[in-house]
Amino acid sequence: MKMPKLIGPIFQTLTLDKLPIKGALKDDQLEIIEKAGILIEDGKIFKVGNWEKLRKEFPKAEIFELTGEFVAIPGLVDCHTHGCFGGSRAKDFAMRNAGKTYLEIAEAGGGIWDTVSETRKHTIEELATITAKHANRHLSDGVTTIEVKSGYGLSVNEELKILRAIHAAKKYTSAELIPTCLAAHTKPKDFSGSNIDYLKLISEELFPILKDERLCNRIDAFVEKSAFSPEEINPYFQKAKDLGFDLTVHADQFSVGGSKVAVAFGARSADHLEASGKKEISLLAQSDCISVALPGASIGLGNGFSPARELLDQGAALAIASDWNPGSAPMGDLLTQVAVLATFEKLSTAEVFAGITFRAAAALGLSDRGKLVTGALADLILFPTSDYREILYHQGKMKPVEVWKLGSKDVLTSDQNYQKG
Ligand SMILES: [Zn+2]
Repeated sequence: MKMPKLIGPIFQTLTLDKLPIKGALKDDQLEIIEKAGILIEDGKIFKVGNWEKLRKEFPKAEIFELTGEFVAIPGLVDCHTHGCFGGSRAKDFAMRNAGKTYLEIAEAGGGIWDTVSETRKHTIEELATITAKHANRHLSDGVTTIEVKSGYGLSVNEELKILRAIHAAKKYTSAELIPTCLAAHTKPKDFSGSNIDYLKLISEELFPILKDERLCNRIDAFVEKSAFSPEEINPYFQKAKDLGFDLTVHADQFSVGGSKVAVAFGARSADHLEASGKKEISLLAQSDCISVALPGASIGLGNGFSPARELLDQGAALAIASDWNPGSAPMGDLLTQVAVLATFEKLSTAEVFAGITFRAAAALGLSDRGKLVTGALADLILFPTSDYREILYHQGKMKPVEVWKLGSKDVLTSDQNYQKG
């Protein structure tokens, strides 16, 4: 066993202990330990308690003494990104703002097919480097667990290339990457059959390889008028479920239908939900499916936000993710996005922090992180303030000064890390 590490004294430590997975939260439900120490052993949290007491109790611990006032919260979890892509969609951005429609942009060579073409040009190693660069920027912003979807390959081989690249990226970042197969993003332009034919091909030829190579354990699908209908996705998801994959859905972004599929299949999460109405909200709230709001996409497209307040008030489990992608959400700054969503949707700090820590982890099927409690992974971040409310108040401009992943201090400042990428 390695020597334990003791970090402190920390002015405020928000453990997020004892908070429920579902429903609205008030800030007075937050457990705040003042002048705390966090004792880490073998990459996990051994104890959180009074700094002076822990120092006496564990005299042999390696001390990481802090000078100044800091707030500690668990390392952030981004449960929805498309962080493995080639190219840029700045042209789409300009066209969209000039009033061009989705179709006009696609006809001018923009849209998702542009990203697919650009991504296909890259080798595995190049895509791994790009993914790691995104991951390291996210890590320096305090995001220690990052879901990364495929979905810009759209053929058996190209999807495999992306998922292998996400695995290869792990050697360049200490953020944990959780891969998800989104081959059902849209039917590719160069596939001549029907939507059903495409999904059949993917499920028959790609799914077994994902299992054999242990490339990913999660299957996502874009259920939308412009992508796949619930009827088309049902057999695809059934096949995935039979093989033991976890499911997640791009649901109710522009039209409803996806959330119903998510709940019916017991998916881990239903993501987007901008178009969800009363019926969809109530269905999600009564299920164990995590509702994931993606404010980055609302900001990117100039659309309304997901009904986060209503979801929480109805009792749903709400996570918030960046949706980092080149088309609709190029910012990839989770803290800024959640601060903006909190303002518009009137979310408490407790609801936001829960949504980007343990509730987001639950969307990934993970219960070992997102709280600063004994036995949890030692993923934690420190902000240079004495009041936790300052973090969201600064709308994402206050960055963590220390990021700890699995008990190791990884990055110091965003600038340093960005250069690394
Ligand atoms: Zn997405």
